[in-house]
Amino acid sequence: MKVPSVTCGTHGKQPQTFVCVHIIESIRDGEAKGFWWSRGEDGVWDAVCNQCNSLSQEAFEALGPENIGVICLGCFEDAAAINEIELE
Ligand SMILES: [Zn+2]
Ligand SMILES: [Zn+2]
Repeated sequence: MKVPSVTCGTHGKQPQTFVCVHIIESIRDGEAKGFWWSRGEDGVWDAVCNQCNSLSQEAFEALGPENIGVICLGCFEDAAAINEIELE
């Protein structure tokens, strides 16, 4: 299945992934905040930090779309590496 792509300033054209804003922060500041990833049936990767992962589904959804950002797969892998997580 085709994953929509994004153009990243660092990595070029890449599949898009969805992460919480805290993971985007950790890419900027290099600080590990946890990285709980999953991959949907559509092949799209997503990940949240420790803090977001500890919330109930309801509490997480209450944070709304401002809590989620789109990053490229290259940035997603960088964030995983900051947290010493290996993607399968
Ligand atoms: Zn988070
Ligand atoms: Zn990127």
